[in-house]
Amino acid sequence: MMYGFSFHRPKSLAEAADVFARADDPTYVSGGHSLLPTMKSRLAAPSDLIALTHLPELQGITRDGDRVIIGAAQTHASVASAALVQDALPALAQLAGSIGDMQVRHRGTIGGSLANNDPAADYPSAVLALGATIVTSTREIHADDYFDGMFATALELGEIITAIAFPIPKSAGYAKMRNPASRYALAASFVAKTEDAVRVAITGAGSDGVFRWSAAEKALGASFDSAALAGLALSADDMLGDMHADASYRAHLAAICTQRAVDNQGRLTLL
Ligand SMILES: Cc1cc2nc3c(=O)[nH]c(=O)nc-3n(C[C@H](O)[C@H](O)[C@H](O)COP(=O)(O)OP(=O)(O)OC[C@H]3O[C@@H](n4cnc5c(N)ncnc54)[C@H](O)[C@@H]3O)c2cc1C
Repeated sequence: MMYGFSFHRPKSLAEAADVFARADDPTYVSGGHSLLPTMKSRLAAPSDLIALTHLPELQGITRDGDRVIIGAAQTHASVASAALVQDALPALAQLAGSIGDMQVRHRGTIGGSLANNDPAADYPSAVLALGATIVTSTREIHADDYFDGMFATALELGEIITAIAFPIPKSAGYAKMRNPASRYALAASFVAKTEDAVRVAITGAGSDGVFRWSAAEKALGASFDSAALAGLALSADDMLGDMHADASYRAHLAAICTQRAVDNQGRLTLL
């Protein structure tokens, strides 16, 4: 059973930040699919829960020139089914559709996932590979400056993610080896090709959370063909190891996922 808490449903972003500033040990809640399990197991015991998903500032999926802007409160299911995302960023729509199960996809949000920054979560790889911008209640943070290790980000205390702005690439692909029970990534790779660069982001595998694989980026920048990855390997020293997959297996899987993501641009590949 979880500890008691006060529940707040603010009417605006400003009110949410104000309630946060005045409470003892508050936390925001979006879909609750990461937060509530930790509260139920008593690993978290916030004094105040401040709900965000109904706030007008966190809604919507729009196109702004060469960027797709996704409101932080959009559920994984709504991103997966948005025609705008399917057209401009099909690999991102399909990534969202691969998260967890139907219940998780209809409650969990993109903002909650990025604030949580689970090392096995899917969205961080797309955000990092696409060079997206995290828009918050106070500023804009480029993906390269946002992820700060496992479950850690550049967000400051009380800062709220309001949207994520994704530049539209020439093409992108995502390949994921799933844990068959949770569907979290054991290893996954998002490969994005823009006019002048290739970016590769690996999730699920790194002992420090999501990371860019710079050797693969360089090889693919010279020749955008999975054959260019032959001979490249990730070090097992930097990988996670657990009962589901040891570090050397994860290093191997991450490289295979990268090859598949190159071969299957424009879509999701499930291994
Ligand atoms: C069974 C199961 C399977 C899952 N499988 C996958 C999977 O395959 N892939 C995957 O990526 N994820 C998976 N998840 C996680 C899921 O995607 C969660 O929805 C997500 O991690 C958190 O989103 P949320 O909206 O539920 O956030 P919440 O649980 O509400 O919040 C998570 C954290 O983020 C903070 N927060 C929430 N919203 C904001 C915001 N807008 N600004 C600032 N801080 C905020 C909260 O304070 C909290 O600390 C799974 C979860 C479960 C329960």
